[in-house]
Amino acid sequence: MSQMSNGAIARTAFESSVTAPAMEADPPHLWFENYYFCRRCNLEWIDEWDCMCDDECPDCGTPHTPYHSRDVSA
Ligand SMILES: [Zn+2]
Repeated sequence: MSQMSNGAIARTAFESSVTAPAMEADPPHLWFENYYFCRRCNLEWIDEWDCMCDDECPDCGTPHTPYHSRDVSA
């Protein structure tokens, strides 16, 4: 004797009204100036990346972790 569909419709309307807040805006543009130094070649260089990632020595090709990183994000 009861109409179950009425409850289902009411619940759907309620859920659609509870939308997630618009917090997911564009992430800030990250940009880093990474400083590297190769002890083997006694060579220092700077490269820019969107993360503090390793870079290869331009002279001997050995991968190096930046000894210093500067956040230059806009
Ligand atoms: Zn090197």
